[in-house]
Amino acid sequence: MSRSGQDGTLRVTEVFSSLQGEGLWLGQRHAFVRLAGCNLRCRYCDSARARPLDAGRPMSNLALKTELKRLFGARRHAAVSWTGGEPLLQARLLPPLMEWVRAQGLKNLLETNGTMAAAFREVAPFCDLASVDIKLPTATGSERWSEHLEFLRIAPERCFVKVVLTARTTKAEWRQVIRLMQESSPNIPLVLQPATTCGDEEPAAPEAVVAYLRQASALLKDVRLIPQWHPVWGLP
Ligand code: SF4
Repeated sequence: MSRSGQDGTLRVTEVFSSLQGEGLWLGQRHAFVRLAGCNLRCRYCDSARARPLDAGRPMSNLALKTELKRLFGARRHAAVSWTGGEPLLQARLLPPLMEWVRAQGLKNLLETNGTMAAAFREVAPFCDLASVDIKLPTATGSERWSEHLEFLRIAPERCFVKVVLTARTTKAEWRQVIRLMQESSPNIPLVLQPATTCGDEEPAAPEAVVAYLRQASALLKDVRLIPQWHPVWGLP
C-alpha cells in the first residue's frame, strides 16, 4: 500500500463533479478531489471515511489528470476544490497539480482546517482561494487559536474563514473568533455556517446564529451567513 506523499502518489478517496455547496464560491460547478487523512477529529465531521491516512486509493498525477480531464470534457467547470480530510497533509504533491489546473483555465480552491501553516506556505501561491475552517474547542476537544492565527497571516488576501456553528458553540468561543479575525487581517471575509450535517450534534439555534452575526458584523468588515447547501439539495 502506498503511503500518501512518500512515493509521489496521492492518496485519494474520491474525484467527482458537483456544485460547490459552501462558502464564497457557493453554486459554482467544481471538480472535487477528496484527499485521504486528517489531523483532527471534529464531532460534526461529514467526511469520516476520508480521515484515515490510508483511506481511498493511490493515484498518480497522470491518473488524476486523466480523471479530471474526463470531468472537464463532460461539463464546464469553474474550479477544482482540493478537499479532504485535510489536503495539506499531502501538500508536497499539490503545487504541480494546481499549476496544471490553472493551465486548463480553471481556479484552485483549497478547503482546509487551517492548522498546518508550514504546509500552507508551500501551496498558497497556487491557491486562488482557501476556505479556512476555524475549529472551535467544542468541536475538536482542543484549542487551535495560535495555529489558526499563524495560518491566516500567510496569505490573508486569498483566504476566507468559515466557522461551523452548533448548539455547543459558546459565546466565549465566538468572542475568541472575532479576536482572531481582528489580529490576523481585518479584510478576511468571515462566513458563519450553521451546521446542517451534524452526526450526533444539535444544530445551532437560529436566534443564537443571528446574535453571533450581529456581534461580528459590528466589529469586522465582511461577515456573511452562508448555510451549507449541498445536503439540502441532496448533492454530493
Ligand atoms: S477537519 Fe474536516 S475532515 Fe478533519 S475531522 Fe474535521 S471536519 Fe472531518
